[in-house]
Amino acid sequence: MSRPLRLTLLGATGSIGQSTLDVVARHPERYEVFALTAFQRVDALADLCRRFQPAYAVVASEVDGTRLRSLLEGSRTTVLHGTEALVAVAADAEVDVVMAAIVGAAGLLPTLAAVNAGKRVLLANKEALVMSGGLFMDALARSNATLLPIDSEHNAIFQCLPGGYRCGEAAVGVEQLLLTASGGPFRSWTLESMRSATPAQAVKHPKWIMGRKISVDSASLMNKGLELIEACWLFGLGPDRIRVVIHPESIVHSLVQYEDGSTLAQLGNPDMRTPIALGLAWPDRIAAGVGTLDLVAAGALHFEAPDEVRFPCLRLAREAFRQGGCAPAMLNAANEIAVAAFLDEKLAFTDIPQVIERTLTELPMMAAEGLPTILEADRIAREHATRLLATLH
Ligand code: NAD
Ligand code: MG
Repeated sequence: MSRPLRLTLLGATGSIGQSTLDVVARHPERYEVFALTAFQRVDALADLCRRFQPAYAVVASEVDGTRLRSLLEGSRTTVLHGTEALVAVAADAEVDVVMAAIVGAAGLLPTLAAVNAGKRVLLANKEALVMSGGLFMDALARSNATLLPIDSEHNAIFQCLPGGYRCGEAAVGVEQLLLTASGGPFRSWTLESMRSATPAQAVKHPKWIMGRKISVDSASLMNKGLELIEACWLFGLGPDRIRVVIHPESIVHSLVQYEDGSTLAQLGNPDMRTPIALGLAWPDRIAAGVGTLDLVAAGALHFEAPDEVRFPCLRLAREAFRQGGCAPAMLNAANEIAVAAFLDEKLAFTDIPQVIERTLTELPMMAAEGLPTILEADRIAREHATRLLATLH
């Protein structure tokens, strides 16, 4: 094999970040860590830097940068801070692979920079693609970047598409995609009981251990809404050709249905190290530390239609995609504000879709003319959603 691939890991201290480093540590001959980034968890990042010896470590603020520098004194790691530094380590000429695992809109600029710089981009940060879909896929088509989906559903679909398929192309012979969803912790709750759901109940996902924001999104089904938009862009299909199916066991990660009547699925234990390993090694397969699926132990697998009355976020996401322009960016921004307020116990769980729907209907629509317009739409929607919080509490 040639030299090890150099990796920048955006969001190293998060759930995906940790799973990525777990896979990387199993294959020291294949991967070398070039940069690790985190928001505020300086001590956790310092530990990771001692272990993986990256050339660069990036945090958000100057104060945290100074603290990290003193913790890492005498090491080979250069400490940087701020968005420009994130963009620099994502686009550095020495980097081969960028794992985009920052949560939310904060990941957009470095992820886009990695695409523009022609990297192999492992996309976990779905919000970046939801916000800027057209622009993002145009950048991909213009650059020689390779985009590999890490979200388990999209990774499953990618695996079920013909060999050689590249994201952004129209897949030949595909009738529709089936996106599976666990249904989250409130799958069988009434609307009434969801009204008083607590953050602790919402983040207690039945099948996956994930960051707090995506866990709340899974409980509201906004995660599936964002994933519907993500799938439309990645696989070049309209929302009418992508169906969501509730599958509580989270064993079948998603499916592709072909025009000839074939349905292809990817199955596995629910563990993000599988899609991460596929992204890191593609087109090879490497050990990920994930146990072999035992179908007999798994037993019966169930599938049901989603209930868009109890879970309106799915409908809101579909409508935002159809509306186009900056609507998906505004949907995402309002959702980020509403979820943060819910986690802060300042908003009822069932008011999350209200904040999003009102933000989208009360603000004028904007065409997605370029990155500045998308960032402006994100800002305006955040401001509006924040104002709405006061009226709902
Ligand atoms: P997490 O909250 O566990 O980690 C987020 C990471 O982003 C952390 O390293 C944090 O330091 C960093 N970060 C947060 N805000 C930042 C900011 N403003 N600037 C710079 N860095 C910031 O989240 P996660 O569960 O690892 O999810 C990461 C992304 O992957 C999300 O977009 C999520 O939707 C997606 N994803 C996660 C899973 C999963 O199983 N966790 C599955 C599919 C997709
Ligand atoms: Mg997913």
